[in-house]
Amino acid sequence: MAVDLPIYLDHHATTPTDPRVVEAMEPYWSRDFGNAASHGHVFGWRAEEAVELARECIAAALGAEPREVVFTSGATESNNLALLGAAEAQAGRRDHVVTVATEHKAVLDPCRVLERRGWRVSVLPVDGEGLVDPDAVAAAIEERTLLVSVMAANNEIGVLQPLAEIGARCRERGVLFHTDAAQALGKVPLDVQDACADLVSLSAHKLYGPPGVGALFVRARRPRVRLEPRQYGGGHERGLRSGTVPVPLVVGFGRAVALAAEERESEAARLGGLRDRLFERLRGSLEGLVLNGHPERRLPGNLNLSFADVDGEALLASLRDVAVSSGSACTSATPEPSHVLTALGRPEALVRASLRIGIGRFNTADEIDYAAERIRENVQLLRSTAARKAGGGRLPFSDSQQPEAEEVGS
Ligand SMILES: *Cc1c(COP(=O)(O)O)cnc(C)c1O
Repeated sequence: MAVDLPIYLDHHATTPTDPRVVEAMEPYWSRDFGNAASHGHVFGWRAEEAVELARECIAAALGAEPREVVFTSGATESNNLALLGAAEAQAGRRDHVVTVATEHKAVLDPCRVLERRGWRVSVLPVDGEGLVDPDAVAAAIEERTLLVSVMAANNEIGVLQPLAEIGARCRERGVLFHTDAAQALGKVPLDVQDACADLVSLSAHKLYGPPGVGALFVRARRPRVRLEPRQYGGGHERGLRSGTVPVPLVVGFGRAVALAAEERESEAARLGGLRDRLFERLRGSLEGLVLNGHPERRLPGNLNLSFADVDGEALLASLRDVAVSSGSACTSATPEPSHVLTALGRPEALVRASLRIGIGRFNTADEIDYAAERIRENVQLLRSTAARKAGGGRLPFSDSQQPEAEEVGS
């Protein structure tokens, strides 16, 4: 097998910038370097033209109008602007938001800030496969609810939430619907009209665009969403996000969105095939494998597995030339078990025994086979070491009921 090492299988964390995107950005670093807000000369005009072209590309991909796309530094900023900006614009009139336990921290943390400011936050549970019930969303909406925030695709288990059903219920009740679509954009169909979405957070570096740029879709009519800006100074981006627009990054973002739209269907089929191949190989050679998330309603490149009786951190460390993530967030010195897997009702041991695998655009079948072999080998090694230490040859999980492996669809 001719594979280049190390192999990157962590595409939910970030993606490499596509060489075609790098090429599109190239002129805007030193040749067409103008400030898009400089209206007095050709340098500014060229920059502005490039920014507006990118805005049109992104709007078209979402079924939105260009003026509804506000460039930001990424999905974290977009989520903060959406939640805190909408809350501030309606302070005194509304005081309640609804979200879900499996959201990204860039949604949950601003919600916590709102709580400190006296807002009430309803955090809805998910079922064992990570799905939120649209009727539970509807039931959580109150008289003074401002908005509902439910992500489009989860960054750990890839689960795709029923956006259209949730959006329809929000619209019926006159409540704004925000969705963090950082993982969904370019991977699965995403249309702001179909989803009845009023605010949508996007990030370029999750879809083979450059890091440091993203956007917030802000619905301009029916309803017109009112946001209080989070930063002031110049009134760029229709006053919602002051600050010089990073032209090369925005150009790259636009190109990345256009490429993803062109290739989405064929790429989804290819990634789904690779994902199923990896799952089949692991399932064929390992016992005690548990699939986390929904078997079909998930991102095509996402596989999240728990390996009974294996420490995820140790497994991760043993996989020297295969880059994946474990089910612990290493944001602090002591790794916290994933709040997403915990919300699925998985016992802590299985949460800590999990790997998140994100297959991407440049991965090959040979790489998948290599990764499957390394994972199998290391899981078996860690299990036999643990069994030896425990003083018996038998694996603990083989005494009890074995967790059922599930089928992953494409
Ligand atoms: C990566 C990610 C973010 C953060 O995006 P940045 O552009 O890195 O700020 C937010 N939400 C989800 C679902 C993500 O996957």
